[in-house]
Amino acid sequence: MAPTKVTPNIFMVGSGTLSGVNDCCVYAVRLASGETCLVDTGTTNGGMIMKNIKEAGLGDKPISHIVLTHEHYDHTGAAWQFKKIMPNAKVIAHQTAVAAIEGKPGTEGLTAAAGYHATYTPVNVDIALSKAVEEMDLGGTKFTFYHTPGHTPGSIAAVVSDGEKKVLFAQDVHGPFLEEFKSDIQAWAKSMKALLDLGADVLCEGHFGVYDGAGKVKDFITDHLKDNGF
Ligand SMILES: [Zn+2]
Repeated sequence: MAPTKVTPNIFMVGSGTLSGVNDCCVYAVRLASGETCLVDTGTTNGGMIMKNIKEAGLGDKPISHIVLTHEHYDHTGAAWQFKKIMPNAKVIAHQTAVAAIEGKPGTEGLTAAAGYHATYTPVNVDIALSKAVEEMDLGGTKFTFYHTPGHTPGSIAAVVSDGEKKVLFAQDVHGPFLEEFKSDIQAWAKSMKALLDLGADVLCEGHFGVYDGAGKVKDFITDHLKDNGF
């Protein structure tokens, strides 16, 4: 399968079919600088994702930033592979997710790696987000990060505008909610309602793909709220 264009500067470059069976949806944003920002990395298929980045017409300049949306292996597993070939890439995550992403003792359950019968290779976080809402300039492109705890304590979402379209990266909107993840369903509902208020035009989801159209974004989030009794 070929990488999927979401908007002129945003592509899906990894997923269960694009890069590896257990991979989350991995997105690449072409920054104003020409560099690439990755949103999540999938499990361990960095080589395939690099190939897809090039096929999408990105990759002339290196990956400058890697946003890790939460603690889970299917999103973070390949981060070390990208850091190995592009050591200047800055890993961004919420401060609540840092211990798990950096592989601190006692955080094994939070990475969900055991569920994939995998060993997680930790990576250092270069930029730890600490606010509920945080704006950041990444290579000349504005990212707004939102702390969206619920599926995990360290979950974040990001909004990037590309042309007329407001694109929301909200990876595991659908859950699941497990004790070992330290999920909090009440916090999740609050987070999802805050995401609804953003009125995004496009949702880039972590396993269900891309929802293009404000109505579809609203329906996807609202349906999951309803399914969970909210
Ligand atoms: Zn997850």
